[in-house]
Amino acid sequence: MTRTAAPAALAEVAEALAAALGAGIISTAPDRLDAYVADTYWPALHAAAAGAPIARPDIVVRPETEEQVAEIVAVADRHRTPVTAWGGGSGTQGGCLPTRGGIVVDLRALDAVLAVKAALDPNGILNPGKMGL
Ligand SMILES: Cc1cc2nc3c(=O)[nH]c(=O)nc-3n(C[C@H](O)[C@H](O)[C@H](O)COP(=O)(O)OP(=O)(O)OC[C@H]3O[C@@H](n4cnc5c(N)ncnc54)[C@H](O)[C@@H]3O)c2cc1C
Repeated sequence: MTRTAAPAALAEVAEALAAALGAGIISTAPDRLDAYVADTYWPALHAAAAGAPIARPDIVVRPETEEQVAEIVAVADRHRTPVTAWGGGSGTQGGCLPTRGGIVVDLRALDAVLAVKAALDPNGILNPGKMGL
């Protein structure tokens, strides 16, 4: 796994996020970060089980509003820090894995159903964290 930022720089990013959003939705706790080392991509599951994950975030943020998502991206841009969107973590190809570290934006709190068409029409507009509709 290739890191793009030094630990001191990442501490600054975490501080900037906490200042912008409040500390409650941000975590750098190792046991929390461990939850984002694999989705259902089997090589990632295998590597994590072997204790050598192919990806691990440095910071996890779980926004509750679109405005918070925008603020996270703005902070990351200012600090040139990678951002990876985590929907439900159910992808089979590892797309949500933070292979360069940085920030994982866990979108599961954004789970509103914004619009549903007719009962027999499967199309609708959902927030990215909505699962199992
Ligand atoms: C057992 C099983 C069966 C499946 N069967 C099917 C099937 O029959 N047909 C099918 O099409 N798929 C199938 N899938 C795949 C499934 O549909 C994907 O897991 C799902 O699309 C991923 O959604 P997610 O929210 O979990 O995204 P994640 O896995 O969290 O992320 C997927 C990608 O989307 C990006 N992403 C997530 N949210 C956003 C966002 N808001 N903005 C920008 N990028 C974002 C992530 O960074 C990542 O690159 C199956 C998966 C499993 C595990």
